[in-house]
Amino acid sequence: TYIMAIETSCDETSVAIIENGTVIRSNIVSSQIETHQQFGGVVPEIASRKHVEMITWIIEEALKVAQLELSDLSAIAVTQGPGLVGALLVGIIAAKSLSLALDIPLIGVHHIAGHIYANQLVHTLEYPLISLVVSGGHTEIVYMEAPGQFKIIGKTRDDAAGEAYDKVARALGLPYPGGPFLDRLAQEAEESIPLPRAWLESDSYDFSFSGLKSAVLSVINQAKMKGLTLNSGHVARGFQESVVEVVVEKALRAVKAYGAKQLILAGGVAANRGLRERLTASCEKLEIPLLIPPLNLCTDNAAMIGAAAFLKWEKQQFASLDLKADPSLSLEAWSV
Ligand code: ATP
Ligand code: MG
Ligand code: FE
Repeated sequence: TYIMAIETSCDETSVAIIENGTVIRSNIVSSQIETHQQFGGVVPEIASRKHVEMITWIIEEALKVAQLELSDLSAIAVTQGPGLVGALLVGIIAAKSLSLALDIPLIGVHHIAGHIYANQLVHTLEYPLISLVVSGGHTEIVYMEAPGQFKIIGKTRDDAAGEAYDKVARALGLPYPGGPFLDRLAQEAEESIPLPRAWLESDSYDFSFSGLKSAVLSVINQAKMKGLTLNSGHVARGFQESVVEVVVEKALRAVKAYGAKQLILAGGVAANRGLRERLTASCEKLEIPLLIPPLNLCTDNAAMIGAAAFLKWEKQQFASLDLKADPSLSLEAWSV
Protein backbone atom coordinates (compact mmCIF):
# COMPACT_ATOMS: atom_id res chain seq x y z
CA THR A 1 0.00 0.00 0.00
CA TYR A 2 1.33 3.40 -0.99
CA ILE A 3 -0.45 6.35 0.62
CA MET A 4 0.39 9.83 -0.61
CA ALA A 5 -0.10 12.33 2.23
CA ILE A 6 -0.45 16.10 1.94
CA GLU A 7 0.04 18.55 4.83
CA THR A 8 -0.63 22.30 4.46
CA SER A 9 -2.21 23.22 7.82
CA CYS A 10 0.19 26.04 8.68
CA ASP A 11 3.43 27.25 7.13
CA GLU A 12 4.96 24.02 5.81
CA THR A 13 3.97 22.64 2.40
CA SER A 14 4.69 18.93 2.68
CA VAL A 15 3.99 15.79 0.66
CA ALA A 16 5.05 12.27 1.61
CA ILE A 17 4.59 8.74 0.33
CA ILE A 18 4.25 6.08 3.03
CA GLU A 19 4.44 2.36 2.37
CA ASN A 20 2.25 0.10 4.53
CA GLY A 21 1.77 2.80 7.18
CA THR A 22 5.34 2.67 8.47
CA VAL A 23 7.97 3.04 5.72
CA ILE A 24 8.83 6.55 4.51
CA ARG A 25 9.42 6.39 0.73
CA SER A 26 9.62 10.20 0.56
CA ASN A 27 8.86 13.14 2.84
CA ILE A 28 9.34 16.54 1.20
CA VAL A 29 8.95 19.57 3.46
CA SER A 30 9.05 23.11 2.11
CA SER A 31 9.04 25.68 4.90
CA GLN A 32 7.78 29.25 4.54
CA ILE A 33 9.54 30.38 7.71
CA GLU A 34 11.72 32.95 5.95
CA THR A 35 8.68 34.58 4.38
CA HIS A 36 6.84 34.92 7.69
CA GLN A 37 9.88 35.82 9.82
CA GLN A 38 9.78 39.49 8.80
CA PHE A 39 6.23 39.71 10.25
CA GLY A 40 7.12 37.92 13.52
CA GLY A 41 4.48 35.24 12.95
CA VAL A 42 2.52 33.35 10.31
CA VAL A 43 0.40 35.59 8.05
CA PRO A 44 -2.53 33.35 6.99
CA GLU A 45 -3.18 34.98 3.59
CA ILE A 46 0.48 34.69 2.60
CA ALA A 47 0.62 31.10 3.86
CA SER A 48 -2.27 30.07 1.59
CA ARG A 49 -0.74 31.73 -1.47
CA LYS A 50 2.67 30.11 -0.87
CA HIS A 51 1.00 26.68 -0.57
CA VAL A 52 -0.69 27.26 -3.95
CA GLU A 53 2.66 28.17 -5.52
CA MET A 54 4.46 25.14 -4.09
CA ILE A 55 2.01 22.24 -3.90
CA THR A 56 2.30 20.87 -7.47
CA TRP A 57 6.10 20.89 -7.35
CA ILE A 58 6.20 19.18 -3.97
CA ILE A 59 3.83 16.45 -5.20
CA GLU A 60 6.10 15.81 -8.20
CA GLU A 61 9.19 15.80 -5.99
CA ALA A 62 7.61 13.31 -3.55
CA LEU A 63 6.90 10.90 -6.44
CA LYS A 64 10.39 11.35 -7.88
CA VAL A 65 12.19 10.69 -4.59
CA ALA A 66 9.98 7.65 -3.90
CA GLN A 67 10.64 6.44 -7.47
CA LEU A 68 6.93 5.88 -7.96
CA GLU A 69 4.26 6.89 -10.49
CA LEU A 70 0.84 8.35 -9.73
CA SER A 71 -0.64 5.01 -10.85
CA ASP A 72 1.20 3.23 -7.99
CA LEU A 73 -0.74 5.13 -5.32
CA SER A 74 -3.42 3.35 -3.25
CA ALA A 75 -4.97 6.38 -1.54
CA ILE A 76 -4.55 10.13 -0.99
CA ALA A 77 -4.48 11.43 2.58
CA VAL A 78 -4.72 15.06 3.59
CA THR A 79 -4.76 17.11 6.79
CA GLN A 80 -8.39 18.15 7.35
CA GLY A 81 -7.73 20.21 10.50
CA PRO A 82 -6.95 21.81 12.89
CA GLY A 83 -5.04 24.60 11.19
CA LEU A 84 -5.51 27.77 9.15
CA VAL A 85 -8.61 27.29 7.03
CA GLY A 86 -7.21 28.86 3.84
CA ALA A 87 -3.99 26.87 4.18
CA LEU A 88 -5.84 23.59 4.79
CA LEU A 89 -8.02 24.22 1.72
CA VAL A 90 -5.03 24.22 -0.63
CA GLY A 91 -3.98 20.72 0.45
CA ILE A 92 -7.57 19.47 0.43
CA ILE A 93 -8.24 20.68 -3.10
CA ALA A 94 -5.02 19.07 -4.36
CA ALA A 95 -5.92 15.81 -2.59
CA LYS A 96 -9.47 15.78 -3.96
CA SER A 97 -8.23 16.41 -7.50
CA LEU A 98 -5.81 13.48 -7.29
CA SER A 99 -8.41 11.21 -5.70
CA LEU A 100 -10.90 12.03 -8.45
CA ALA A 101 -8.43 11.79 -11.32
CA LEU A 102 -6.83 8.53 -10.13
CA ASP A 103 -10.10 7.09 -8.81
CA ILE A 104 -8.56 6.12 -5.46
CA PRO A 105 -9.87 6.74 -1.90
CA LEU A 106 -9.50 10.05 -0.08
CA ILE A 107 -8.61 10.04 3.63
CA GLY A 108 -9.05 13.08 5.92
CA VAL A 109 -6.49 13.19 8.74
CA HIS A 110 -6.40 15.00 12.09
CA HIS A 111 -3.15 16.99 12.35
CA ILE A 112 -2.52 16.00 16.01
CA ALA A 113 -3.21 12.33 15.27
CA GLY A 114 -0.43 12.82 12.72
CA HIS A 115 1.97 14.24 15.31
CA ILE A 116 1.24 11.24 17.57
CA TYR A 117 1.60 8.65 14.78
CA ALA A 118 4.95 10.13 13.68
CA ASN A 119 6.20 7.73 16.34
CA GLN A 120 4.89 4.75 14.35
CA LEU A 121 7.34 5.57 11.53
CA VAL A 122 10.29 4.76 13.80
CA HIS A 123 8.94 2.77 16.76
CA THR A 124 6.54 -0.07 17.59
CA LEU A 125 3.60 1.22 19.62
CA GLU A 126 2.17 -0.82 22.50
CA TYR A 127 -1.22 -0.06 23.98
CA PRO A 128 -2.56 1.23 26.27
CA LEU A 129 -0.26 4.22 26.01
CA ILE A 130 -0.10 7.86 27.04
CA SER A 131 0.87 10.49 24.50
CA LEU A 132 2.22 13.86 25.60
CA VAL A 133 1.39 16.30 22.81
CA VAL A 134 3.34 19.56 22.90
CA SER A 135 3.08 21.66 19.76
CA GLY A 136 2.60 25.20 18.50
CA GLY A 137 -1.17 25.19 19.03
CA HIS A 138 -1.78 22.24 21.37
CA THR A 139 -0.64 20.90 24.73
CA GLU A 140 -2.49 17.75 25.67
CA ILE A 141 -2.18 14.45 27.47
CA VAL A 142 -3.92 11.79 25.39
CA TYR A 143 -4.83 8.32 26.63
CA MET A 144 -4.95 5.64 23.92
CA GLU A 145 -6.36 2.26 24.83
CA ALA A 146 -6.00 0.90 21.29
CA PRO A 147 -4.73 2.09 17.88
CA GLY A 148 -6.61 5.18 16.73
CA GLN A 149 -8.56 5.58 20.01
CA PHE A 150 -7.96 9.06 21.40
CA LYS A 151 -9.12 10.29 24.80
CA ILE A 152 -7.91 13.72 25.93
CA ILE A 153 -7.41 13.56 29.70
CA GLY A 154 -5.70 16.94 30.06
CA LYS A 155 -5.22 20.05 27.96
CA THR A 156 -4.06 23.63 28.19
CA ARG A 157 -6.52 26.13 29.57
CA ASP A 158 -4.86 29.04 27.78
CA ASP A 159 -1.64 29.12 25.71
CA ALA A 160 -0.04 26.05 24.13
CA ALA A 161 3.55 25.26 25.12
CA GLY A 162 4.96 26.23 21.71
CA GLU A 163 2.94 29.43 21.70
CA ALA A 164 4.37 30.35 25.13
CA TYR A 165 7.89 29.56 23.88
CA ASP A 166 7.40 31.77 20.84
CA LYS A 167 5.93 34.68 22.84
CA VAL A 168 8.65 34.60 25.51
CA ALA A 169 11.32 34.29 22.80
CA ARG A 170 9.88 37.34 21.07
CA ALA A 171 10.03 39.33 24.33
CA LEU A 172 13.70 38.35 24.57
CA GLY A 173 14.27 39.68 21.05
CA LEU A 174 14.77 36.28 19.39
CA PRO A 175 13.68 35.59 15.76
CA TYR A 176 10.43 33.76 14.88
CA PRO A 177 9.68 30.94 15.64
CA GLY A 178 11.52 31.41 18.89
CA GLY A 179 11.22 27.93 20.43
CA PRO A 180 14.49 26.50 19.07
CA PHE A 181 16.43 29.74 19.84
CA LEU A 182 15.11 29.85 23.39
CA ASP A 183 16.01 26.17 23.79
CA ARG A 184 19.61 26.90 22.78
CA LEU A 185 19.88 29.90 25.15
CA ALA A 186 18.54 27.80 28.01
CA GLN A 187 21.05 25.01 27.31
CA GLU A 188 23.97 27.44 27.33
CA ALA A 189 22.93 29.30 30.50
CA GLU A 190 24.68 28.50 33.75
CA GLU A 191 22.00 29.91 36.04
CA SER A 192 18.25 30.29 35.97
CA ILE A 193 15.94 32.88 37.45
CA PRO A 194 13.18 31.39 39.63
CA LEU A 195 9.74 31.38 37.99
CA PRO A 196 6.38 29.94 39.11
CA ARG A 197 5.04 26.47 38.21
CA ALA A 198 1.39 26.13 37.17
CA TRP A 199 0.40 22.86 38.83
CA LEU A 200 -3.37 23.68 38.98
CA GLU A 201 -5.51 21.28 41.04
CA SER A 202 -3.46 18.37 42.42
CA ASP A 203 -5.40 15.74 40.43
CA SER A 204 -5.60 17.73 37.17
CA TYR A 205 -3.79 16.84 33.95
CA ASP A 206 -4.55 20.30 32.55
CA PHE A 207 -1.93 22.92 31.80
CA SER A 208 -1.70 26.69 31.95
CA PHE A 209 1.18 28.69 30.50
CA SER A 210 -0.17 32.24 30.36
CA GLY A 211 0.71 32.97 34.02
CA LEU A 212 4.28 31.86 33.43
CA LYS A 213 4.46 33.98 30.29
CA SER A 214 3.20 37.03 32.25
CA ALA A 215 5.75 36.35 35.00
CA VAL A 216 8.56 36.38 32.42
CA LEU A 217 7.28 39.58 30.80
CA SER A 218 7.10 41.24 34.20
CA VAL A 219 10.70 40.24 35.04
CA ILE A 220 11.81 41.74 31.71
CA ASN A 221 9.85 44.96 32.24
CA GLN A 222 11.04 45.45 35.80
CA ALA A 223 14.65 45.08 34.74
CA LYS A 224 14.04 47.66 32.00
CA MET A 225 12.44 50.12 34.44
CA LYS A 226 15.32 49.81 36.87
CA GLY A 227 17.80 50.21 34.03
CA LEU A 228 19.34 46.79 34.75
CA THR A 229 20.65 44.50 32.04
CA LEU A 230 18.95 41.15 32.22
CA ASN A 231 20.77 37.97 31.24
CA SER A 232 18.35 36.50 28.71
CA GLY A 233 19.98 33.07 29.08
CA HIS A 234 19.01 32.99 32.75
CA VAL A 235 15.44 33.95 31.84
CA ALA A 236 15.31 31.31 29.08
CA ARG A 237 16.59 28.61 31.40
CA GLY A 238 14.15 29.58 34.18
CA PHE A 239 11.25 29.51 31.71
CA GLN A 240 12.29 26.18 30.19
CA GLU A 241 12.71 24.57 33.64
CA SER A 242 9.23 25.65 34.65
CA VAL A 243 7.57 24.31 31.46
CA VAL A 244 9.52 21.06 31.43
CA GLU A 245 9.05 20.25 35.11
CA VAL A 246 5.26 20.58 34.89
CA VAL A 247 4.68 18.69 31.63
CA VAL A 248 7.01 15.85 32.65
CA GLU A 249 5.42 15.42 36.09
CA LYS A 250 1.88 15.37 34.69
CA ALA A 251 2.73 12.96 31.89
CA LEU A 252 4.42 10.52 34.28
CA ARG A 253 1.48 10.73 36.70
CA ALA A 254 -0.87 9.87 33.81
CA VAL A 255 1.27 6.89 32.78
CA LYS A 256 0.98 5.48 36.31
CA ALA A 257 -2.73 6.25 36.79
CA TYR A 258 -3.72 4.68 33.44
CA GLY A 259 -1.37 1.71 33.59
CA ALA A 260 0.18 2.72 30.26
CA LYS A 261 2.83 0.48 28.66
CA GLN A 262 4.54 3.38 26.92
CA LEU A 263 4.86 7.15 27.02
CA ILE A 264 5.12 8.73 23.59
CA LEU A 265 6.13 12.33 22.93
CA ALA A 266 4.62 14.27 20.00
CA GLY A 267 4.52 17.76 18.43
CA GLY A 268 6.98 20.49 17.50
CA VAL A 269 8.08 21.16 21.08
CA ALA A 270 9.11 17.47 21.28
CA ALA A 271 12.23 18.82 19.49
CA ASN A 272 13.10 20.67 22.72
CA ARG A 273 16.39 19.41 24.14
CA GLY A 274 15.58 20.29 27.73
CA LEU A 275 12.32 18.37 27.54
CA ARG A 276 13.85 15.33 25.81
CA GLU A 277 16.67 15.11 28.36
CA ARG A 278 14.49 15.50 31.44
CA LEU A 279 11.83 13.10 30.17
CA THR A 280 14.45 10.51 29.20
CA ALA A 281 16.10 10.69 32.63
CA SER A 282 12.80 10.47 34.55
CA CYS A 283 11.52 7.56 32.44
CA GLU A 284 14.79 5.66 32.89
CA LYS A 285 14.54 6.08 36.64
CA LEU A 286 10.91 4.89 36.74
CA GLU A 287 11.50 2.21 34.06
CA ILE A 288 8.83 3.65 31.77
CA PRO A 289 9.39 2.90 28.05
CA LEU A 290 9.63 6.30 26.32
CA LEU A 291 9.30 6.88 22.57
CA ILE A 292 10.43 10.14 20.96
CA PRO A 293 10.39 10.84 17.20
CA PRO A 294 13.57 12.08 15.49
CA LEU A 295 13.74 15.87 15.12
CA ASN A 296 12.56 15.98 11.48
CA LEU A 297 9.37 14.10 12.40
CA CYS A 298 8.56 16.33 15.43
CA THR A 299 7.74 19.50 13.50
CA ASP A 300 5.11 19.58 10.75
CA ASN A 301 5.60 17.05 7.94
CA ALA A 302 3.38 14.93 5.69
CA ALA A 303 4.97 11.57 6.62
CA MET A 304 3.19 11.70 9.99
CA ILE A 305 -0.11 12.38 8.19
CA GLY A 306 0.45 9.29 6.02
CA ALA A 307 1.18 7.20 9.13
CA ALA A 308 -2.07 8.29 10.82
CA ALA A 309 -4.02 7.83 7.56
CA PHE A 310 -3.12 4.14 7.58
CA LEU A 311 -5.46 3.68 10.61
CA LYS A 312 -8.38 4.82 8.44
CA TRP A 313 -7.14 2.83 5.44
CA GLU A 314 -7.22 -0.39 7.44
CA LYS A 315 -10.81 0.30 8.55
CA GLN A 316 -11.79 1.53 5.07
CA GLN A 317 -12.98 4.79 6.60
CA PHE A 318 -12.72 7.03 3.58
CA ALA A 319 -13.84 10.60 3.04
CA SER A 320 -16.14 11.67 0.24
CA LEU A 321 -15.32 14.44 -2.21
CA ASP A 322 -17.24 16.93 -0.08
CA LEU A 323 -14.59 16.69 2.69
CA LYS A 324 -14.36 20.12 4.32
CA ALA A 325 -11.45 21.90 6.00
CA ASP A 326 -12.22 22.03 9.72
CA PRO A 327 -10.02 24.46 11.73
CA SER A 328 -11.42 23.06 15.00
CA LEU A 329 -11.62 19.35 14.13
CA SER A 330 -11.92 17.22 17.29
CA LEU A 331 -9.24 14.57 17.93
CA GLU A 332 -11.56 12.32 19.94
CA ALA A 333 -14.22 12.43 17.21
CA TRP A 334 -11.56 11.46 14.63
CA SER A 335 -10.93 8.14 16.49
CA VAL A 336 -11.26 5.14 14.15
P1 ATP B 1 -0.16 22.42 15.96
O1 ATP B 1 0.60 21.19 15.62
O2 ATP B 1 -0.59 22.49 17.39
O3 ATP B 1 -1.29 22.68 15.02
P2 ATP B 1 1.98 23.81 14.69
O4 ATP B 1 1.78 22.78 13.64
O5 ATP B 1 2.07 25.23 14.31
O6 ATP B 1 0.84 23.64 15.79
P3 ATP B 1 4.34 22.36 15.31
O7 ATP B 1 4.90 22.36 13.96
O8 ATP B 1 3.89 21.11 15.87
O9 ATP B 1 3.26 23.49 15.53
O10 ATP B 1 5.46 22.95 16.25
C1 ATP B 1 5.96 24.27 16.07
C2 ATP B 1 6.23 24.81 17.44
O11 ATP B 1 7.28 24.05 18.04
C3 ATP B 1 6.64 26.25 17.44
O12 ATP B 1 5.94 26.92 18.47
C4 ATP B 1 8.15 26.17 17.76
O13 ATP B 1 8.65 27.29 18.45
C5 ATP B 1 8.17 24.96 18.65
N1 ATP B 1 9.51 24.35 18.71
C6 ATP B 1 10.22 23.78 17.71
N2 ATP B 1 11.43 23.38 18.15
C7 ATP B 1 11.48 23.70 19.47
C8 ATP B 1 12.46 23.57 20.50
N3 ATP B 1 13.65 23.02 20.26
N4 ATP B 1 12.15 24.02 21.73
C9 ATP B 1 10.95 24.58 21.99
N5 ATP B 1 10.00 24.76 21.07
C10 ATP B 1 10.26 24.32 19.82
MG1 MG C 1 5.35 25.41 11.19
FE1 FE D 1 1.85 20.73 14.02
